[in-house]
Amino acid sequence: MLIVMKKDATEAHVKAVVDAAEKRGYVARPIPGGDRISIGILHNKGSVDSGLFAEFEGVKEVIPVTKSYKLVSRETKKDNTVIKVGNAAFGDGSMPVIAGPCAVESEEQCLTIAKAVKKAGAMLFRGGAFKPRTSPYSFQGLGEQGLKILAKVREETDLPVVTEAMDCENFSIVEEYADVVQIGTRNMQNYSLLKRAGRSKRPIVLKRGMSATLQEWLMAAEYIMEEGNHNLILCERGIRTFVKHSRNTLDLSVVMAAKKESHLPVIIDPSHAAGIRDQVIPLACASSSVGADGLMIEVHHKPKEALSDGAQSLYPVQFEECMHKIEKIHNLVSGQ
Ligand code: PEP
Ligand code: MN
Repeated sequence: MLIVMKKDATEAHVKAVVDAAEKRGYVARPIPGGDRISIGILHNKGSVDSGLFAEFEGVKEVIPVTKSYKLVSRETKKDNTVIKVGNAAFGDGSMPVIAGPCAVESEEQCLTIAKAVKKAGAMLFRGGAFKPRTSPYSFQGLGEQGLKILAKVREETDLPVVTEAMDCENFSIVEEYADVVQIGTRNMQNYSLLKRAGRSKRPIVLKRGMSATLQEWLMAAEYIMEEGNHNLILCERGIRTFVKHSRNTLDLSVVMAAKKESHLPVIIDPSHAAGIRDQVIPLACASSSVGADGLMIEVHHKPKEALSDGAQSLYPVQFEECMHKIEKIHNLVSGQ
């Protein structure tokens, strides 16, 4: 259930509602909105007596939330959530691009790529220090040394950095260095990790599990929000299908479906969807035409020598071409 407060409701009005809900054994979570606050009532088994809360001072209306995901649902919050990181805003109609190599390999590698992607218009730099690899014999990432390199990139280029936290054990160190923490496809249903992300002060990029339905993805997001972190960006990165012509299948229609169901921004990672360099620019263009709130693209200056995902990494010059194309499409589609 959602309790929408009046515009002029005071902190004391909000507190009275929260206290009353908690006295009855519910969890009450204030949700900041554009010009008014709402309170989500969670953990209620069965229906809550809406009349009870309608009587409270400062309450505008009481709305039953029928979805099993509550905090992520558009029923709970009608306006798009906008997540601001550095100069980028995800969810405000613009389309910021996160770019960088799959893995942090060295300071020289990261700085070279970061300068190139910044010049081309990327607003955030990405690079994995902890890598979830299918094979235990593949490069696993530089760990903390990689995080230090990311900090150096931020210092030198002023680009905020995005990097993955693979487990609870390393979450604290990752959030210490990162501006945005990524949860990867393989961890979308790692509930203890989701809860830990929910207690973080950093915005989270939650990738869709490669076999997850929209509902499962949104429930995973709910785990994060339920712990109190509302700075959440959903990322579609392709799902596992029967095809062999690409690494995954980019599910473009999930962007519209997710944005209909949820107020959270939805970005697309065409690199992991494609797995093949040739497909990345066309898929990025397609992503910008379906209203994605941003893109995440892998770029490497020497992809043949990359320690991971070289085959899907764009050369910097291709990334520049990609940025020109998506800007044109985005302007066309958004009527700018
Ligand atoms: C990545 O972003 O490099 C990555 C490992 O992504 P995913 O979790 O989507 O495979
Ligand atoms: Mn990768």
